[in-house]
Amino acid sequence: MLPKTAEVVVIGGGVMGASTAYHLATRGCRNVVLLEKAPFLGAEATGKCAGGIRYQFSTEINVRLSLLSLPMLERFEEEIGQAIDLRWPGYLFLLDNARDLAAFRANVAMQNRLGVPSRILSAGEVRAKVPLLRLDDIIAAAWCHKDGLADPNGVVQGYAAAARRLAAQIFTATEVTGIRVESGRVAAVETRRGTIATRAVVNAAGPWAGQVAALAGVDLPVVPLRRQIVVTTPLKGIPDDFPFVIDFSRSLYFHREGQGILTGQSNPDERPGFDQSVDHAWTERHLEAAMWRFPLLERAGLLREWAGLYEVTPDAHPVIDGLRDPAGFYIVAGFSGHGFMHGPAAGLLMAELILDGRAHTLDIRQLRFGRFAEGDLVREHNVV
Ligand SMILES: Cc1cc2nc3c(=O)[nH]c(=O)nc-3n(C[C@H](O)[C@H](O)[C@H](O)COP(=O)(O)OP(=O)(O)OC[C@H]3O[C@@H](n4cnc5c(N)ncnc54)[C@H](O)[C@@H]3O)c2cc1C
Repeated sequence: MLPKTAEVVVIGGGVMGASTAYHLATRGCRNVVLLEKAPFLGAEATGKCAGGIRYQFSTEINVRLSLLSLPMLERFEEEIGQAIDLRWPGYLFLLDNARDLAAFRANVAMQNRLGVPSRILSAGEVRAKVPLLRLDDIIAAAWCHKDGLADPNGVVQGYAAAARRLAAQIFTATEVTGIRVESGRVAAVETRRGTIATRAVVNAAGPWAGQVAALAGVDLPVVPLRRQIVVTTPLKGIPDDFPFVIDFSRSLYFHREGQGILTGQSNPDERPGFDQSVDHAWTERHLEAAMWRFPLLERAGLLREWAGLYEVTPDAHPVIDGLRDPAGFYIVAGFSGHGFMHGPAAGLLMAELILDGRAHTLDIRQLRFGRFAEGDLVREHNVV
């Protein structure tokens, strides 16, 4: 049975909701309730993501989020008691033109200033690192050995179990259908299983964050965008340390998944929408591009494929903020296709916003909701 009241109601059981619930509970917030519409936690964007974790971003705020979040993933198993299959094969951004190379040189300089050991590799160094790839057109690459991979389901389940141990209550198959606002502040959350009176609601609804915000009368520009992934059957000859490779100008990526390869490519013509069926025409074009870049894939079979949704904002940065209108409405959403890795930091910062009135571990003014109305947007360019 749903409780009648809660100190905080978190909407959404992906990495953002689970991390927020855990960080609230660990700070002593005793009556946290998380509501997830799917039958399982982590069933949406988080469970469908590629699991990449990296420092290589084009804006300082995203690098700073990674500097906070990735060490939390390194400590995860020890602190939370759940294995998350952490690996550090590095991220390699392949660059095929001078304009991208100049932008990545500037990114690397900024990342180095913040303490990230990324660097530019020459074409010869790239060939030595990934000899299995076709590289005739590649002029250089950006590389960071501290980038890697982790298991998204492990992170969600770990945070959820730890939150439960700290008395948080988690309900799956429970869709939020209404948010009651009284005298300019949040008063209750409505579901078909009952209503919960509360003065604090967290919108952690990922690709559905725009819809959930609308329930509170808030216009939040987060749009869902379909993205697909293919995993191949096992392939002989892929080294254990094969990196997370991104063919930047083609928005095409590969990493090792078991004995096979996980690959994705963003369709530039995809239109916003909630359709998560696999677009087989796009799979064909994607695999053609993938086999061209990585000829060994011609010998692979298709093991699994799926589609999931990015949660895209106009500047490809998330919103992590508490609103004045309605008061008590908090947003941690809009991570624009690279949010899994920032989930640990985002939950910590959201708990600070709710319990302390402001985030103090990191200055997140740039991620305020008001920036859209003010037109104060700084775009992240390293979006795949
Ligand atoms: C194909 C793909 C590849 C990706 N690769 C990476 C990657 O390599 N690295 C990375 O860092 N990120 C990656 N991402 C992005 C990452 O998955 C997301 O940024 C992150 O998972 C967002 O987490 P979330 O908790 O906000 O959203 P979700 O995991 O979608 O969680 C939101 C939850 O809210 C629930 N919900 C929605 N509406 C309601 C409602 N009304 N009531 C109750 N519950 C509701 C949904 O069911 C959902 O479970 C990828 C995404 C995709 C689709």
